[in-house]
Amino acid sequence: MTNQNFIDLSRIYEESEKVKVSLQGKKLDKMRSQALENPEQFWGEQAKNLIWFKQWDKVLDSNDHPFYKWFVGGALNASVNCLDRHIDSDLKNKAAIIWEAENKESRSFTYSQLYRSVNKFASALKSLGVKKGDRVTIYLPMVPELPIAMLACARIGAIHTVVFSGFSSQALSDRVNDSNSRVVITADGGFRRGKLVELKKVVDEAIPLSSSIEHVVVLKRALNNITMGPKDVWWHEIIEDARPYCEPEIIESTHPLYILYTSGTTGKPKGVVHSTGGYLTHLYATAKWVFDFTNKDIFFCTADIGWVTGHSYIVYAPLMHGATQIMYEGAPDYPKPDRYWDIVEKHGATILYTTPTALRMYIKFGNSIPNSFDLSSLRLLGTVGEPINPEVWMWYFRTIGKENCPIVDTWWQTETGGIMISACTGIEIVPMKPGSGTFSLPGIDAVVVDENGKPVTPDKKGYLVIRKPWPGMLMTLWRDDEKYQNTYWRKFDNIYFTGDYALYDTDGYLWLLGRSDDVLKIAGHRLGTMELESAFVSHRAIAEAAVTSRPDEKKGESIIAFLVLRTEFAAVSEQQLRNQLVNHIRETVGPIATPGEIYFVNKLPKTRSGKIMRRLLKSISSGSSTIGDVSTLEDGTSIEEVRQAYDDLHKAIG
Ligand code: ATP
Ligand code: MG
Repeated sequence: MTNQNFIDLSRIYEESEKVKVSLQGKKLDKMRSQALENPEQFWGEQAKNLIWFKQWDKVLDSNDHPFYKWFVGGALNASVNCLDRHIDSDLKNKAAIIWEAENKESRSFTYSQLYRSVNKFASALKSLGVKKGDRVTIYLPMVPELPIAMLACARIGAIHTVVFSGFSSQALSDRVNDSNSRVVITADGGFRRGKLVELKKVVDEAIPLSSSIEHVVVLKRALNNITMGPKDVWWHEIIEDARPYCEPEIIESTHPLYILYTSGTTGKPKGVVHSTGGYLTHLYATAKWVFDFTNKDIFFCTADIGWVTGHSYIVYAPLMHGATQIMYEGAPDYPKPDRYWDIVEKHGATILYTTPTALRMYIKFGNSIPNSFDLSSLRLLGTVGEPINPEVWMWYFRTIGKENCPIVDTWWQTETGGIMISACTGIEIVPMKPGSGTFSLPGIDAVVVDENGKPVTPDKKGYLVIRKPWPGMLMTLWRDDEKYQNTYWRKFDNIYFTGDYALYDTDGYLWLLGRSDDVLKIAGHRLGTMELESAFVSHRAIAEAAVTSRPDEKKGESIIAFLVLRTEFAAVSEQQLRNQLVNHIRETVGPIATPGEIYFVNKLPKTRSGKIMRRLLKSISSGSSTIGDVSTLEDGTSIEEVRQAYDDLHKAIG
């Protein structure tokens, strides 16, 4: 199907909800049912797209539930799959990475240059004594040396653990200690909002707390003068005499490729462990199905590599497919709220993959900014990280995609390794419903169940679970098998608990409604935070919304909304707007959802990966003075702002 067909169908849906076409595509449908009938055969076929040193003996070993093992007996190397496979082809001289800085400077690496850099750095790590199975912590900003370091680790079988470069020394040393890393790789600094972040200083503070560290490799960007200590070595010095070719280690499929600590939206970060063969198989397949990757694509994934989206869809998946990646070091709105559009225009991005949070931020500033850029190179748009409100979906479709680009709303988690629920433009374009993730991917058995683990009927809300193992699944939590079992496999017997709330509509489309621990219980009804937030955002004055609750004697819980206004509404009367919003919610969701309190704030507290931290809002709303672990908070001032807005209002009301 062409894009044109998609648009027509999408308009049909938009214009009349009563039109019932056979919504699900036949080709996709067939592939999904075949995959679920015989998952091992299906995933075995997918795995053949990778380069293996040795073919697996068994696709899936389920004997030790829930410690599933994929492609047992197989051996491969991730860096060979990302680089060596292209090096004798025409892709050799094509850009693998285009790097863009906040100050608009750019730099690029061809596949051949990336291959050479990875080989040299892998040789250098080996000469520092790093061996297969050792853990290496990477604490670098968004520069090409970050994927180089990851791929170099993969080449020698070291397990990388990337720590987001905005973390404090405490957060860094916690992660170094938990993973027991031997080496830290860092830089003199990075940039964010025009400010130099002195990373080496943070590492210097962390090292005394982390006795396992033997070497600190420092990338010199000549940003500041730094003092080198006894464990420190310069990146450029250790690669100087390093061998230009490093024989790739033969890695068992079930050997960990990396450990990644989750963003901590809900609490203490967990060390998610991903395998090599299963993980890469999942990524190769999902990138093809969802994005329809070809080696002609210029893919702009705006995530930070410190999060799983960057690992999977900046580094491993696009490189395996020979695509060109854009990596951006900086904030979306610095120096002006136009950076993503500027980068799309400048480098001719064909696919943009970003977060609803970033889109809502851009919406706040109006359409004239994106309209002043040439975005015609785009053919596909994607989102990840949070549910996308239908209103925001339509804005993305119209203002950014100019009604020419399908949107893939991709649901997945650090734990799932890759995309699990999304439209699949590489298989068949089916009509899209703004705000729905559409269907689970072939081979992914996602169902919505009630409290007893029984599948619910259409339009009924419940817990999203995955019934069958899938190749990208986490192997365990690092050195905490028990927590792995308790967190994901205990709530319902033998099935994976995602912790998210969802429903299937009568057309079989899946809607994500927020985290199950954020669900509100109002007068006996369960409401997902997403339903309410989308209702607020559908009001023309509101750019962003976060909803939480506090105990209420009559209703059980009372709804509290924190809202950010679109800039053009900043001057309106708050009381008038509050009344309008109450009516709007009563009309769109129902009287049951009448908000108890509404607060207008400049900013919402978000994690570094761009998600609203509702846990924080809840503890502020319930008057708690302890706010828990906020190491992943984007910007400390926003908690204070929310708390201030709340306190001021209480004073004003008396
Ligand atoms: P932690 O588990 O440490 O609290 P986290 O869940 O925020 O952190 P991630 O693994 O980055 O860490 O995020 C996965 C979660 O993000 C999902 O469980 C879901 O709640 C949400 N999510 C991701 N993509 C989507 C999407 N397309 N639609 C709805 N929700 C999404
Ligand atoms: Mg999570």
